[in-house]
Amino acid sequence: AAVRVTNPPPSSDSSVNLDISDSVLNLDVGDPRAFEKFWKRMDEKCKVTISGSEVMSYVSDLGNVCWFLEPKLRDAIKRVHRVVGNAATEDRHIVVGTGSTTLFQAALYALTSSPPPPPGAQPVSVVSAAPYYSGGGSRGLMVFRSPLLHPPDPSNALNVKVNPKRCFKDVTDYLRSGLYKWEGDAYTFDKDGPYIEIVASPNNPDGTIREAVVNRGDGKVIHDLAYYWPQFTAITHPADYDIMLFTFSKGTGHAGTRIGWALVKDKEVAKKMTECITISSIGVSKESQLRTAKILDVLSDDCQSFGAISENFFEYGYAVMAERWAKLRALVKKSNKFSLPKYPQESCIFSGKFKETFPSFAWLKCKEDVDLASLFKAHKLIVRGGERFGVGREYVRISLIGRDEEFNLLLERLASVLGI
Ligand code: PMP
Repeated sequence: AAVRVTNPPPSSDSSVNLDISDSVLNLDVGDPRAFEKFWKRMDEKCKVTISGSEVMSYVSDLGNVCWFLEPKLRDAIKRVHRVVGNAATEDRHIVVGTGSTTLFQAALYALTSSPPPPPGAQPVSVVSAAPYYSGGGSRGLMVFRSPLLHPPDPSNALNVKVNPKRCFKDVTDYLRSGLYKWEGDAYTFDKDGPYIEIVASPNNPDGTIREAVVNRGDGKVIHDLAYYWPQFTAITHPADYDIMLFTFSKGTGHAGTRIGWALVKDKEVAKKMTECITISSIGVSKESQLRTAKILDVLSDDCQSFGAISENFFEYGYAVMAERWAKLRALVKKSNKFSLPKYPQESCIFSGKFKETFPSFAWLKCKEDVDLASLFKAHKLIVRGGERFGVGREYVRISLIGRDEEFNLLLERLASVLGI
């Protein structure tokens, strides 16, 4: 029996025919559905057939540090970075994870467990410059048939509580590890001793391009490059850091496949990261890896060929983001109480053009001291407030990568939030 794995057509979502005009819109999560129309066109090209006897073993490649990494995925990852130019892959070890979330955990473990800390040692401090990637915004909300829509009729609820634990602070602290501990904002960090700084660039939530800020000799840095792809920002150089995390969720929008990868310079660190994933889950789904490999290969093929039938995902994604940002900026400009960050134009080595950053989240600021997330809630928009990112309540983070209907509804309601 053969299992066919295909991209889910957008119409497979039972909420597609819902009238969303009266729904509460949840833009707290960054569910990347803005690119589904592109991948719908690629349905046939991206099909993967996995027969009944394939990928039954735990093992993919015993000769590799990450022994559960499928060679096809390894090759596809190296190729896509070469084609895009966003990361150096030479002399690196690739560790695959169930999303980059697990790799962040694995990197913390690797950097703090070898050599084992002496008895009674304090946990290593983990910091990130505020505003930093942070979760927990949807605490206690009901999940409805589409997680982004909250129709007022409770019969639509699946009656599941969500309490997403997936950000830097939550992932660091949820196991109460004795190895490491969340210490918050890197800008105000002044504790002695070893530390790990997480640098997300472009940053979630505010889209800025970042470098490490603590820069002490006893520190290690994890670079989270989830958004360093040409649909969101100019690729200015191949990133070349010790530990770099990437995710399929944001690279192409296939969050449901749950694949992330780390490019790691030091073999011992890569071994420890692999050990962490081995202890927690004995590897990563081969089916997901093969699907990721296939889609990354289609992506690379289409970026490299210039024929009439080729389609470049990154050009498409950039055009979608540019159009959404233009509409959003035009609206926010009408109000003198609100502002959005400005991003510089940079020369992009992938496209050969000057490009602006179009982050997947809008980081909106009110010039007055208001609880902005509550104001949004009153207009049936659920967004994440600034306090969750280590800054003030006059900020909110709004997801811009939902489907067209959701983005259009956001604009409509945002006009009333802004009072225009
Ligand atoms: N890092 C950043 C900065 C993110 O925004 C996200 C997703 N929201 C992740 C990591 C995790 O991505 P995933 O686990 O889906 O790979």
